[in-house]
Parts: sequence; structure tokens; C-alpha cells
Amino acid sequence: MGSVFVVEYHHIRAGKNSMIRSPKEFRADLERLYKLGFRPCTVSQYLNNQMDMPPGATPAVFTFDDSNPSQLQLRPDGAVDPNCAVGIWQEFAKLHPDFPVRATFYVLPDVMWGQPKMLEKKLALLKSLGCELGNHTVTHPILRKLSDDKVKEEIAVATDRLEKLGVPLPVSLALPFGVSPKNKQLLRGFDYKGKRYVQKAVFLVGAEPACSPMDPKLDRYRIPRIQAYNGPMGLPEWLDKFERGQVKAYVAP
Ligand SMILES: [Zn+2]
Repeated sequence: MGSVFVVEYHHIRAGKNSMIRSPKEFRADLERLYKLGFRPCTVSQYLNNQMDMPPGATPAVFTFDDSNPSQLQLRPDGAVDPNCAVGIWQEFAKLHPDFPVRATFYVLPDVMWGQPKMLEKKLALLKSLGCELGNHTVTHPILRKLSDDKVKEEIAVATDRLEKLGVPLPVSLALPFGVSPKNKQLLRGFDYKGKRYVQKAVFLVGAEPACSPMDPKLDRYRIPRIQAYNGPMGLPEWLDKFERGQVKAYVAP
């Protein structure tokens, strides 16, 4: 019944703000999580309580938002750029096979990491690694400012695009900026242009560990995440608390 760390990344590149994790910091996160006994899983594995962990391991649900180029880049020969998030993690997983690349990517269908000609290759790669895609709307709006109809359009069109790419539905949704629409009922599901759309779950931006998938208190339409940045309620701070025994995390039976 312990809590689950749902970790959230945006850019993996040089620079300093809460949306950026440098390659060095990302490597350090993987190393620290590994040493503390965390093992990676996707959002679906978490929601379905099929986290596929060795006994005693603690799940870390990895999420990457916005499909920024620095998350997944291929070189002209098709090889994964060793400096993008997936490349760095693959390198880490070679040394630590029990920490495989396993994450949920909340993508913007018009962005999808740039390199449009490489998209099919990237999707096949992610699938082969056991990663999955989730919905992050089409244009990343502040949903609270939109009419119900516009909210539906943002979620529905993104869902259709994912379905077209072969993603099994329903998918989960990460709210742009963590902001809910005025009409929160839309987060569960709605009808749009004669079709029914439902969300498997909805994720916020911050700022604490989530409930265990078996906990009746888990609100699937408001699941918190932990941002990977050096600041209040960021990943390093939560890992410090975990190390000091101040967070009771879920442990695989
Ligand atoms: Zn975003």
C-alpha cells in the first residue's frame, strides 16, 4: 500500500530550469534510483498493477512529456543518439540489465521529437523496448481557459492520432501544465463527433508520490507526479525523504 514515485521529465539537455535535466543529471538520477532499489515501469503497468518487479524492488514510473527532441533522436544511420534520453538510458541499461528503458511518453502528435521521417523507426524502437505513448493534447493549451467543446477537440484529436499510429486505447492523459478543464467530468470521458472517448487515467504535473495502484484512495483522474528538477518537491528532495525513511514506498511482494 506504500506510495509510488511517478517521475516526470521534459528536456534532457544542457541548460538550467525546472523543465531541463542535463544528460549528467539524468544519468545521476538513473544511478541513484537504481542504487536505492527502484526499478522502472510504465504508467499502464502501474495502473494495471502489473509492475513486473523482482520481489523487494520499488517501482519508479517514468514519464516524459511534450515529445521534446532531446528525449529521442536518431542519427542519419538510424542509430540512437547516445546523448538523448533513450540513448543515455540504453547505455545505462547495458551495465544494469535489471533497469531497462521502460517509460510512458506523453506526446504532442505534431511534434513527436522532430525528425518526421524517422517517426516510424522511433515508434518501433519504443515498442520493442516496452515503452508506451500517452495523450498530452494536440497544442498543449491551458485546458481551464477552453470551452468544453475545445477541450474535447484537443483530447479527441490527439487520441485519434495515437490510435492511427497503432497505440491501443484507452490511453492515459497528462494535463498540459497540470491544469484541469473547468468541466472535470470531461477527464473521465465524453462523446465527440459521434465517438466515445475515455481516459484510462489523468496525471498532474506535481508534486508528491502517488497512491499504490491497490489503494482505494487512488483517484485515477488526478494522479500526482514528481518533477525531475533540483528544487522544492523535486525528485532529489523526494529521494532524500525516501532515504531517510520519511516516505513509505510501495515494495514489490
Ligand atoms: Zn507538457
